[in-house]
Amino acid sequence: MSKGLLFDIKRFAVHDGPGIRTTVFFKGCPLRCAWCHNPESYRKQVEKTVNTRKLNGRTYREEEKVGEWMTVERVMGMIGKDAVFMNESGGGVTFSGGEPLMQPVFLEELARACVGESLHTCLDTSGYAGNDALQRVFPYIDLFLYDIKSLDKERHRRYTGKSNRLILENLRWLIKMRANIRLRVPLIPGINDREEDLKALEDLLSEAGSSVQGVDLLPYHKLAAPKHKTFRGEYAAGNIQVPEGSAMEYIRQRLEKHTNVPVGVGG
Ligand code: SF4
Repeated sequence: MSKGLLFDIKRFAVHDGPGIRTTVFFKGCPLRCAWCHNPESYRKQVEKTVNTRKLNGRTYREEEKVGEWMTVERVMGMIGKDAVFMNESGGGVTFSGGEPLMQPVFLEELARACVGESLHTCLDTSGYAGNDALQRVFPYIDLFLYDIKSLDKERHRRYTGKSNRLILENLRWLIKMRANIRLRVPLIPGINDREEDLKALEDLLSEAGSSVQGVDLLPYHKLAAPKHKTFRGEYAAGNIQVPEGSAMEYIRQRLEKHTNVPVGVGG
């Protein structure tokens, strides 16, 4: 069995798909979103960081290892502990990151093992991967949590470091395959909440039809700022304002009204 590089396994997650879930975080991501909540996921390698604390006038420096190569068997042993909660709540297992599709062989083996235990599976993905990786895991994923960061080509490249072409091609392939999809849209004021951004999202939802079962708007927040300074040396999204609740509600209602797709706020 292959090994996968992970940086966290979170039990009892309630924002990563339906019910109570265990979320498995893959390390490594091809994108560099300015507002990323998990910058420790960027590099596909084990890293060491040093945490400094000042107590009673003394400075303590503690090394922390980020990332661990794990077998499917070991991850399944951890997931299995909570199977009863997952099954009773309509939950399951979510593969997140980072970008899980950067490790397609391990992801396929892990997702297949979950399906073998009758556990519901979600893939939380940026969609930035070769279509062969998506095809490989497709039979073992019950629900795709598919990120749409910007439908504007130039803005997508500027704020994530990559084009959105592959992402949209993979989304259209999933729609053609009649996959179950929830779109996840991080709402970043000044970057993807303009009139033309909302219109483009409405057009995409109209084109998608019934494959897209819902949209989750994820309001930008600054909680990851300290992690950016550790893993990236700077926080490029520091000047962005946190969206107002009234703006979130306006966008939620507007998208719902124009597309007939249920739209929620939060994951
Ligand atoms: S795709 Fe996700 S994990 Fe990767 S940089 Fe963007 S927000 Fe972070």
